[in-house]
Amino acid sequence: MNEPINSEMGYVGADEDGSMRALAARWREALDADGWTREFTYPGTLDASTHHERDGWTVSIYEQNALGPWHIHICAWGPDELAVALPPEYDFEQMVANLNKCDFCGATGTRVRRVAFANRACDGCYAEARRKLGCD
Ligand SMILES: [Zn+2]
Repeated sequence: MNEPINSEMGYVGADEDGSMRALAARWREALDADGWTREFTYPGTLDASTHHERDGWTVSIYEQNALGPWHIHICAWGPDELAVALPPEYDFEQMVANLNKCDFCGATGTRVRRVAFANRACDGCYAEARRKLGCD
């Protein structure tokens, strides 16, 4: 299986061996089974990307091959409109727990605040994260 480029926040990668498209298919099946909506992100086109919602949550699964090999990107947004770190396979309980996971030090069960566009930082990482992401 391809190594996700960003294993903390989601999965992004060229699908060299088909494993990333298989991962996207497993996520879609799990989301369907767990009562999420499913819509094409770009209806009326041949693009296979999908958009899923439930209870204020959003999951986007981008699946595109316009530039050659299939390219897969799976990402999720919590009801607080910040990005959520994804478990390797769909696991809603883990996604809920990740609402309180710091994107910078990996601390869990902690208060987090928005940094930059949609990152989560704990109190200990907040100032450095703002500096690193060019907010200050
Ligand atoms: Zn932290």
